[in-house]
Amino acid sequence: MPEPLSLNLVHLKPSETIAISAETKRRRAAGEEVFDLSLGEPDFDTPPVAAQAGIQAIQKGMTHYPPNPGIPELRHAIAANLSKLSGDRPVNPDQILVSSGSKHSLFNACFTLFGPNDQVLIPAPAWVSYPQIVHLCRAEPVLVPGDIEWGLKVSAKDLDKHSTTRTRGLILCSPCNPTGAVYTLAELRSIAEWAKKNDVWIIADEIYRRINYGAVAAPSFLDLPDDLLERTVVICGASKAYAMTGWRIGAALAPPHVFKGMAALQSHTTTGANHPAQWASAAAFADERVEADVLRMVSAFRTRRDRLVERFRTEVPGVEFVEPHGAFYFFFRVDGLTGPKEGGAAFCARLMTEEGVALVPGAAFGDDRWVRLSYAAADKELDAGVDRILRFIKRLAAARAA
Ligand code: PMP
Ligand code: GLU
Repeated sequence: MPEPLSLNLVHLKPSETIAISAETKRRRAAGEEVFDLSLGEPDFDTPPVAAQAGIQAIQKGMTHYPPNPGIPELRHAIAANLSKLSGDRPVNPDQILVSSGSKHSLFNACFTLFGPNDQVLIPAPAWVSYPQIVHLCRAEPVLVPGDIEWGLKVSAKDLDKHSTTRTRGLILCSPCNPTGAVYTLAELRSIAEWAKKNDVWIIADEIYRRINYGAVAAPSFLDLPDDLLERTVVICGASKAYAMTGWRIGAALAPPHVFKGMAALQSHTTTGANHPAQWASAAAFADERVEADVLRMVSAFRTRRDRLVERFRTEVPGVEFVEPHGAFYFFFRVDGLTGPKEGGAAFCARLMTEEGVALVPGAAFGDDRWVRLSYAAADKELDAGVDRILRFIKRLAAARAA
């Protein structure tokens, strides 16, 4: 029997999304044909201007320790970018902390704000890492189920129902992983008002803000007036909009005293984020040529989304799904399809064995009635995978009818 690990890890499970992706790669390496629609990672390469800025940074010797909170050029570029997206609202670069991916930014924010006895509300279905990060802070995640009639989003009323005197925080993701739902500005406002009234911190995960199928970027907490943002930390990053997952750059915009705590924490854990990657990201956030690449990628995601929705509507009209307005996820309902008491886990296991397609069961996000498909996959792989999924669903329906 190995020695027990620290109590810090008592609730810890490895990330399901990362595990499924690793399993898919293992099967491929073993020669199996697998269509991977599991991982939320853009299939596009990093925009050349950003990649080149990273290469040049290495060649120019930007390979020493970075300033702990991030290089000024990147902090300014992020501040200017956020400001522009929110109608030129002032954004102070001194309140932006650059970290090793937005997952790290989320960890820094939660570890700085939450601790033992605190409860943190998390609208569910929720991205796999939120409850785990909250547990690592020794705080308690409290899942708040979203409303099926409302794209699985939550309202201030739902939050109220789940809050107690111990509620200290809320992690809200919009555009949402895993559902693709997007909160309207009015919905964000009413949640911000509720949080202000109840002294609850909001961690606003806006990593998918640019991947939105409305006319402009998705509504943000930064579109709200200052008095509603006093207890808000906004998370953004380079991974999704700029197809820079491997560079590992994320950022948090936080009130000054929270920024200070997070920066001190980071000074003892990572000493700041990868230095050349920060230069690449500064180009991504600031250069107009990269902006053109972002628009091209978002347009490709939109085309895929439209086609996916159309195919599900016409080919398997009985299958319920969340209307996807942002991010690159399609969340559809599978409970009962493989058997009366079965859900996403059974559906995904059979889909992998019978059709070689990898999806993520809803159980990973706290609701196994559903499964998540990522359409951040190359068109050919996506089309072939969706052909197989629809064929599988039709086969299951025929077997049930027989
Ligand atoms: N938030 C959400 C909702 C995500 O889906 C992801 C995906 N990895 C992250 C944060 C973290 O992204 P990264 O660490 O690559 O910035
Ligand atoms: N966020 C992506 C996903 O949900 C990448 C994997 C991860 O970090 O969880 O698939």
